Amino acid sequence: MRYTIKTSYTFESYWAAIFTGTSSLFKGLRLSLSHILKSRKRKKITAITDPDYFKQATGRVTLLYPYEKPFLTDNGRHQLHNEIEDCIVCDKCVKVCPVNCIEIESIKAPYEIGKTSDGTTKRLYAAQFDIDMGKCCFCGLCTTVCPTECLTMTNTYSYGTSDINKLTFHFSALTDKEIEEKKKEISSYQKDKENNKSSNSLPHSSIIKPKLNSNSTENKKDDN
Ligand code: SF4
Ligand code: SF4
Repeated sequence: MRYTIKTSYTFESYWAAIFTGTSSLFKGLRLSLSHILKSRKRKKITAITDPDYFKQATGRVTLLYPYEKPFLTDNGRHQLHNEIEDCIVCDKCVKVCPVNCIEIESIKAPYEIGKTSDGTTKRLYAAQFDIDMGKCCFCGLCTTVCPTECLTMTNTYSYGTSDINKLTFHFSALTDKEIEEKKKEISSYQKDKENNKSSNSLPHSSIIKPKLNSNSTENKKDDN
């Protein structure tokens, strides 16, 4: 296919081209001006459930983040938080997590260590309770299975960092020293328990075995 370049213009086509260019320039300017005028108004930062949400057809939609923040619904899924005082270290959240981003280490207590705010008895210490938000896919399953509802999604969504290690959040309230103490406490309790068991058990020689009375069995046979 051959292309030909038009090199000569008629007087009419020359002015028609200038007219088309100028009118399209003014169309663009008019559109920009209308947006500038509309931007004097802005849409309210409101929830989608607000009856007026879709009535706001015009106005700016951008926010001056971080000075202004979008409206977040209560059931939004953002950063996880564990109210560790209410955690019974049951491990359910770890088991249900599809990406293994929760790590827990529990230490048994020899006695009841308290109650959660909903009255559940606590018998385990949380030596470690870490959540790696860098892996979390925000499925919310862990919050659903938590029996004491101590694991919740918060409205904190801005925790970006260039250090990936900072995306692991630690919730254990125990210090290293306290963890050592708790471990020693349970191991000495278990040793004492074992010792008590062995001291309370009867020596082998003192076990009285029931004797089978051969006469009685024979008598029974005769009766039959
Ligand atoms: S929200 Fe889902 S992926 Fe994130 S910690 Fe919970 S269970 Fe795991
Ligand atoms: S499911 Fe809830 S109570 Fe159980 S370990 Fe996880 S956060 Fe704690």
